[in-house]
Amino acid sequence: MTDVRDAPSSQVNGAAAGPTGQTRTGLGADALRAAVTDHLVYSIARPPAVLTPEHYYRALSLAVRDRMQKRWMATTQNWLDLSAKVVCYLSAEFLMGPQLGNNLIALGIEEQARAAMAELGQDLDVILACEGEPGLGNGGLGRLAACYLDSLAALERPAVGYGIRYEFGIFSQEISDGWQVEKTDNWLAHGNPWEIAKPDASYQVNWGGHTEGYTDVTGRRRVRWVPQRVLKGVSYDTPVQGYGVNTCNTLTLWSARAVESFALDAFNTGDFYRAVDEEVISETVSKVLYPNDEPEAGKRLRLLQQYFFVTCSLQDILDIHLHRAHRPLAALPDKWAIQLNDTHPSIAVAELMRLLIDEHQLEWNTAWDLTVRTFGYTNHTLLPEALETWPLSIFGEALPRHLELIYEINARFLDEVRAAFPGDEDRVRRMSLISEDGQTVRMAHLATVGSHTVNGVAALHSELLKSSVLKDFHEMWPQRFGNVTNGVTPRRFLALSNPGLRELLDDTIGPGWMTNLDRLKGLEASIGDPEFRRRWREIKRANKSRLAEYVHASTGIELDPTWMFDVQVKRIHEYKRQHLMALHIIALYHRLKTEPGLVIPPRAFIFGGKAAPGYHMAKRIIKLINAVGETVNADPEVNRCLKVVFLPNFNVKTAHLVYPAANLSEQISTAGKEASGTGNMKFMINGALTIGTLDGANVEIRQEAGAENFFLFGLTEEQVAEVQANGYRPLSHVESDPELAAVLELIARGEFTRGDTEVLRPIVDNLVHHDPFLVLADYRSYVDRQAEVSKVWLDRDAWSRMSIRNTARSGRFSSDRAIQEYCAQIWGVGPMSVPL
Ligand SMILES: *Cc1c(COP(=O)(O)O)cnc(C)c1O
Repeated sequence: MTDVRDAPSSQVNGAAAGPTGQTRTGLGADALRAAVTDHLVYSIARPPAVLTPEHYYRALSLAVRDRMQKRWMATTQNWLDLSAKVVCYLSAEFLMGPQLGNNLIALGIEEQARAAMAELGQDLDVILACEGEPGLGNGGLGRLAACYLDSLAALERPAVGYGIRYEFGIFSQEISDGWQVEKTDNWLAHGNPWEIAKPDASYQVNWGGHTEGYTDVTGRRRVRWVPQRVLKGVSYDTPVQGYGVNTCNTLTLWSARAVESFALDAFNTGDFYRAVDEEVISETVSKVLYPNDEPEAGKRLRLLQQYFFVTCSLQDILDIHLHRAHRPLAALPDKWAIQLNDTHPSIAVAELMRLLIDEHQLEWNTAWDLTVRTFGYTNHTLLPEALETWPLSIFGEALPRHLELIYEINARFLDEVRAAFPGDEDRVRRMSLISEDGQTVRMAHLATVGSHTVNGVAALHSELLKSSVLKDFHEMWPQRFGNVTNGVTPRRFLALSNPGLRELLDDTIGPGWMTNLDRLKGLEASIGDPEFRRRWREIKRANKSRLAEYVHASTGIELDPTWMFDVQVKRIHEYKRQHLMALHIIALYHRLKTEPGLVIPPRAFIFGGKAAPGYHMAKRIIKLINAVGETVNADPEVNRCLKVVFLPNFNVKTAHLVYPAANLSEQISTAGKEASGTGNMKFMINGALTIGTLDGANVEIRQEAGAENFFLFGLTEEQVAEVQANGYRPLSHVESDPELAAVLELIARGEFTRGDTEVLRPIVDNLVHHDPFLVLADYRSYVDRQAEVSKVWLDRDAWSRMSIRNTARSGRFSSDRAIQEYCAQIWGVGPMSVPL
């Protein structure tokens, strides 16, 4: 491995910046300062009198991007001849987070940048805070894709992330009168210094129309797709610099454009407005990211988005393969590992078949063999409503050729099923790519049939996949199924966001932990040292002060950093059970109101997360949290030991402040519903203790941390299934638990809503009558476990020991470990170092 920090920086450091060469590449403070000054003039074009920190942010970002450019070109050049295999990660979402701080760490030039900015009279932290968030994802799945790009680069694997350049990312969330209000996220309004537009790299995207049979010159019957509409995808590339290495990979995001010739055509006939219209419609395709958990609406455009980015990506891959590397199509699976991040890109299976058969004249069997050997599929959910299906009517109208291909794939596949399980027509119906009512295409089945490997994202989830949603497929192809437990990047979620802990780690175990997170184990040797534990607590305290400041600025609520920070941040969803945490707060409130003088170890309950705009129950849960917060925070009998905060607009940028400040991590989903979770890992790495169910990666977190360092509660997945099979009776829990009854009564009688008994009634009704997520079944177990949490918290040293053990044993949850597993077990891709 070549360490980028070794070579040029030491030479340049302290020396005069010199001519343009070093202004573009020098890693020392002087060269950086000269580069920023240069960009302020030549890129930002503002005289000193009008410069703002935002201008400095853009100038510094451009200077940092310059410093990645040579490595970026060298990396691409290095793999472009396909002497080795390349990973392509297809994902409808990449939740990258702010780039500047992360790139400074990757290049090893934070201190140089800080010094350079100081010389220019600027504070690097203020500059970093100017960066907005490219919100091109909903939550965990998009963030996972971003962590994987970081690890692929750090591990020197040649890789390209392919996705969509949404013009508007996930909405930004404001809270008004306790309710979520959505504001459009115009993240490109001030430009994006990290991307480079490549308008010359574009591909045609067809849509609608019909197919026609014809006979080609060799006399073979072929099919041609005659589209109703044509648009194109233009690539915008962003560098992904690996930490401490020369590898700088690429994130390619496609942006939709009208095809000029079409516009021109209309223009010639005098129909200028139709041409403009065409452009507007075409560009709509990459306009906006769809929030998760939305009911039906807007389906057609979402299908178009998926097809749009998939066809551009596959055409790009084939273009490189055939025209840059001059490889035969037969070598496709040896040169490319294409991973489908959930079912969103699963149309890729049919699209690659179409490209190989219709455009490149391969025979069916050859094309199918190449397709299956090229794709891997990662499943991210067991929730049936989240498994993608398309109504045949919409699908056939939009992608007529793909529907034909899917029918053919299905016919051949079902023949295989019949051969393997003779006479089992029920199984055939269950496994079909077309739903049993004949109304929809099942995209998860298409992805499974068209991939050589199918993996879940945590041990429990992968087991449940095999025994539930993909059971039949597992029985047919057991060797196709595997597990890769998710991970998170320690560069962003430790080094960048927790600089205090980073310094302590460097001092205690040396800096190697950043690329080998198992080294954290070395911390255990210091657990017995009181001075070490004191430093440990001091760092956490400082992180809590930093978060408290931000909370105060954004909500007006004051938090005491000596209190326990009990945190649940993630998308708002009934299965994640933010309302269970709210019930606990209300129980404590109830105790404080009915037992004057009661002592409860003081806690700040901190929530954050967005609800899908059309998910009414989730939005009402936000209202519940804010209503309880308003009441609790204003009541002197209660606010002496309880505070409740709903932090607006949780995103990667605010995540940097939240995870390092938590004492307690809430991972309280109904067992069997959370595929993995990654927030749970970010908390653990930063020394929070977890209260959680045996769900997703919590199971492995508890295994690693040791059961005695984890607060377990709740039904297991089997017990959940059993309760549901026998008919869940939530009222029985209310009847047998007077405190729970009192808690629900407080909500119902309007205690938190100024006497309004209607606003929160749907939540109570739901919990008591038809809650599929068994909140009341786990209530008592949860609240009792929380009492133990409070007890342990009072023993400061015991808590510190547990906290240190959690960090020390979190190494497994590095995305580096996950990517190494993908490379070894699924992709067959090794490291390829990049010479400069
Ligand atoms: C990690 C992360 C998530 C995922 O959180 P879970 O607790 O795993 O659901 C969502 N949003 C952001 C901004 C994150 O950083």
